[in-house]
Amino acid sequence: MSSLFPALADGPPERVALRFGERSLTYARLAAATGALADRIGGHRRVAVWATPALETAVAVVAALEAGIAAVPLNPKSGEKELGHILADSAPALVLTAPGDELPDALSDLARVDVDVDVEATGERRPTRVSDEDPALVVYTSGTTGPPKGAVLPRRAVARTLDALADAWQWTGDDVLVHGLPLFHVHGLVLGILGPLRRGGSVRHLGRFGPEGVARELSGGATMLFGVPTMYHRLAQALPDDPGLARAMGSARLLVSGSAALPVHDHERIAEATGRRVIERYGMTETLMNTSIRADGEARPGTVGVPLPGVELRLVEEDGTPITAYDGETVGEIQVRGPNLFTEYLNRPDATAAAFTADGWFRTGDMAVRDPDGYVRIVGRKATDLIKSGGYKIGAGEIENALLEHPGVREAAVTGEPDADLGERIVAWVVPADPEKPPTVEELADHVARRLAPHKRPRVVHHLDALPRNDMGKIMKRALSRG
Ligand code: ATP
Ligand code: MG
Repeated sequence: MSSLFPALADGPPERVALRFGERSLTYARLAAATGALADRIGGHRRVAVWATPALETAVAVVAALEAGIAAVPLNPKSGEKELGHILADSAPALVLTAPGDELPDALSDLARVDVDVDVEATGERRPTRVSDEDPALVVYTSGTTGPPKGAVLPRRAVARTLDALADAWQWTGDDVLVHGLPLFHVHGLVLGILGPLRRGGSVRHLGRFGPEGVARELSGGATMLFGVPTMYHRLAQALPDDPGLARAMGSARLLVSGSAALPVHDHERIAEATGRRVIERYGMTETLMNTSIRADGEARPGTVGVPLPGVELRLVEEDGTPITAYDGETVGEIQVRGPNLFTEYLNRPDATAAAFTADGWFRTGDMAVRDPDGYVRIVGRKATDLIKSGGYKIGAGEIENALLEHPGVREAAVTGEPDADLGERIVAWVVPADPEKPPTVEELADHVARRLAPHKRPRVVHHLDALPRNDMGKIMKRALSRG
């Protein structure tokens, strides 16, 4: 395989590829900067990237890929222990940084190379021999359910997922993306940076996400927004008082959400204020993207759309039997197969083997139902979101959606805890809209019983100031005490 980014060689040289705040790079200058850096680091097997939200991070990762080296993005907000684990696990030859970055002690033994983004074109590059199956990235999972694991993503998976998304989203080099996500996970890095660069389009990174920046960029020519549910929640809250934001979001070609479920309530508020539907896609570090609502398809809130081109997806019962009829009700675990998949968890042959079936399907650990026409509705994670209560299997997600429609609830998470009679009882963790008047367990149980079904009502309600979330805004259910 040749370059993952054909536009570096033959794209419009004067088009802005990347803009972070006041700093930007055209394709011609990106090609010069990444070419020079690729030549400097060529020959290594794996390099770490200190993944701050800056031009240097994008240049570092693209240069590594141009040199045929696997990049390991590091979260600059990680604690020493987590960084230590990732460095020991991935053993990078050096770390790529921006000049002036201050590094924690965990990195003090590692050679450091500062990325220079301001380079004159150097002419002929050293040729690199790479194959489709060579690793492009080692990305650590979000650690939502346990310690992060390093997913080894081959160049093939990156290329095929981005091309499948281009098909689903009619994504071209004319698109300009508004980006406010961190760069050390798949969402912000693979979709948000490598995606536009593979198409020959542009990225405008906000640095810090906020409704003002979104309004400014979308009214100033940007066409797409990628965000996680906590971002769309903030936009939904700002919209009623901000007609400029509503107009800007209404003019976007594509508003895309992923990394966790977008509550139906936020979907509805955004559609009402902007006239546009947010489209959801579903992916994982290990699989890159699996499904999406298509740009030309029906945006059905509460679903993550249909499998992307090339992706095989099935639901299986607990004993592994595939569910063949889609009735919108039968819950099964999602398994996927396709060119978008990772090759292995680094240094974890046990975890890798456990993650695949004998015939090569990846067990996602996510539970879902499918509508009769194939749309996938995620119910939640097998490990934390499936509650077995009174003989029923109940998904936490639909109860969370129902709770969020109660005016006294600002945020909600649902878990199960052992119960002598029921097996498990439903527990709601609620951030009240008004801390002075938190909704009672009776009120919320009533509300859920009326909306869903009596057996789905919470039996216990805990009030919190905030839900524990990781840096992607995902609720860390394992941090919610079960006692
Ligand atoms: P870890 O694997 O370390 O516990 P993680 O699973 O959160 O962390 P990621 O790979 O970043 O790490 O996240 C993938 C998961 O995010 C999926 O398995 C799924 O549970 C969830 N997810 C992603 N997109 C969506 C979506 N649109 N709707 C619901 N859940 C989603
Ligand atoms: Mg996971």
